[in-house]
Amino acid sequence: MENTGTTAVQRSYTNLKGYEGPGFMATTLDKAVGLARKNSIWPLPFATSCCGIEFMATMASHYDLARFGSERLSFSPRQADLLMVMGTIAKKMGPVLRQVYEQMAEPRWVLSVGACASSGGIFDTYSVLQGIDRIIPVDVYVPGCPPRPEQILDGVMKIQELVGNESLRRRNSAEYKELLASYGIQ
Ligand code: SF4
Repeated sequence: MENTGTTAVQRSYTNLKGYEGPGFMATTLDKAVGLARKNSIWPLPFATSCCGIEFMATMASHYDLARFGSERLSFSPRQADLLMVMGTIAKKMGPVLRQVYEQMAEPRWVLSVGACASSGGIFDTYSVLQGIDRIIPVDVYVPGCPPRPEQILDGVMKIQELVGNESLRRRNSAEYKELLASYGIQ
């Protein structure tokens, strides 16, 4: 059977904007770095409950997150650039999640997977954090209880869009420093 498919990397390459001519292409450093970063995201899965099971399905052969360059999970914050929070986060766990985030090197992104991580979900109670964005900044939210693997993949692709288009100067900008300061993060 003829294989007419393209990989995520090939699709990303063809989407790279620049000045093209016969045998060459010129683009900006921002776009070249963005292309490399978006196709080699190393996620740190912070999974506490049922949404974590959906993530396991997302990693497995049928959905295969590896197609997006993200099969290398990191359980060390210092070697991860995408924090994926999946599941109910108890208030007692909040400081641990925040510490993991603070230990990640810049540039770092956060994907909030499912209703619990994004808003506390059905657990409108004194012991559950009503959304992780109360303690760390979030880049993309994935709705659902639980979200299907396709939704998690969609969230990762939204993160890829952000990563691919982010200016190399953003992390040094006054706006970004202000955002971190609003969370009390240096
Ligand atoms: S959002 Fe639903 S599926 Fe996900 S952790 Fe909460 S209760 Fe479980």
